[in-house]
Amino acid sequence: MAFLGNGYCSSGSEGEDEDEGMEGYRKGGYHAARPGDHFAGGRFVAQRKLGWGNFSTVWLAYDTLLNRFVALKIQKSARDYAQAALHEIELLSAIAKGDPTNSKNVVQLLDHFKHAGPNGHHVCLVTEFLGDSLLRLIRYNRNKGIGLSRVKEICRSVLVGLDYLHRELGIIHTDLKPENVLLVSTINPSKDPVRSGFTPILERTVSNQYSGSVISFSEKMLKMRARRAVAKISLRRESLGGVAAEMEKERSLDGISLKCKIVDFGNACWGSQQLAGEIQTRQYRAPEVIIGAGYSYSADMWSFACMAFELATGEVLFAPKTCQGCSEDEDHLALMMETLGKMPKKIASSGTRSKDYFDRHGDLKRIRRLKFWPLERLLVQRYNFTEPDAQGLADFLRPILDFTPENRPTAAACLKNPWLN
Ligand code: ATP
Ligand code: MG
Repeated sequence: MAFLGNGYCSSGSEGEDEDEGMEGYRKGGYHAARPGDHFAGGRFVAQRKLGWGNFSTVWLAYDTLLNRFVALKIQKSARDYAQAALHEIELLSAIAKGDPTNSKNVVQLLDHFKHAGPNGHHVCLVTEFLGDSLLRLIRYNRNKGIGLSRVKEICRSVLVGLDYLHRELGIIHTDLKPENVLLVSTINPSKDPVRSGFTPILERTVSNQYSGSVISFSEKMLKMRARRAVAKISLRRESLGGVAAEMEKERSLDGISLKCKIVDFGNACWGSQQLAGEIQTRQYRAPEVIIGAGYSYSADMWSFACMAFELATGEVLFAPKTCQGCSEDEDHLALMMETLGKMPKKIASSGTRSKDYFDRHGDLKRIRRLKFWPLERLLVQRYNFTEPDAQGLADFLRPILDFTPENRPTAAACLKNPWLN
């Protein structure tokens, strides 16, 4: 049970609470690392798993050359994953080259190499070690919203990163969301290897010895079940230990550093070479992407505004669902119009999928009666904002949520907005 050693539970990808499962650990898939495993000829030593995604597992590792902790992203080995990692390396190299002082609030690539394992050759990326994501921060605060002064501070950090990516490098992130912005420090100091005085593991011990492909699938399943059982038991212990009362208590965000950086360039692209038609995670997806009208840097700005709203309220701005007789896309467009007003006809008709959703008057075909609930009213009535607070936030967000992508302010323009300063 090496993953649970050191008192650190493997966190899993933050969108879900499950771990990555065992099915991904096969030829072409994840590399099964264990604490103490050596990488790049012994320079990097795996410590504990930090997270995972569909493409990779990410480990805290110790850099024995420079005596520091780093994050080691070990990509799945199949060709498509390897190619995606090489693309990410290309973008992250440009990002690092243009920011030698590491002051642009984007994660820094430190090294990359290939690692041969039982499941194939894995491209590995070494980046600076960062803390919890903004999603964790929102959840830590029990989805109550983190307060406007904190929202402003985080917005400024993210905008510095976006301005750098957009204006100086010509990169569109395409998947901006709270999971993909990491605080520089961990929320809980005991999870920070430096602040907690964690002694790096330099060698594998017998108990965490990885026996690779000789472990049968059923053995792996047994181990996984045992691990889940332990997790469940400790959860139950927590709830029996009077944590229910604790849950009601307000958690303080005081003392948590809000410096943060943009991560996950697995889907990012050069502004001049947009590949995928459909980008972004559902809730943060811009209207032009939904209707198939192409996209540019301003699509990141849309996601940014959705994220700022979520930080302020603790809830996602748009949570579309498939409903009777309508698709998730249509519900999404309806939700946008209920909050932001009707989409201009010219925009509504500008995409390759416009005819699927809109009639010739620019009205949604299948969702006829919209309940108009503008941003400001939403903030006051649903989230109990004071009138001036609601107005300040709504005035900041509304231009960024313009249906016409060209009308949205750039990151540089947003940074000049007095509301932020
Ligand atoms: P996705 O499926 O989201 O594309 P991915 O396989 O490309 O995922 P990432 O999103 O880059 O992987 O990383 C997975 C998780 O690992 C993150 O959500 C985060 O929890 C953790 N992580 C990534 N980079 C770092 C870092 N530099 N420091 C600390 N944790 C990190
Ligand atoms: Mg990710």
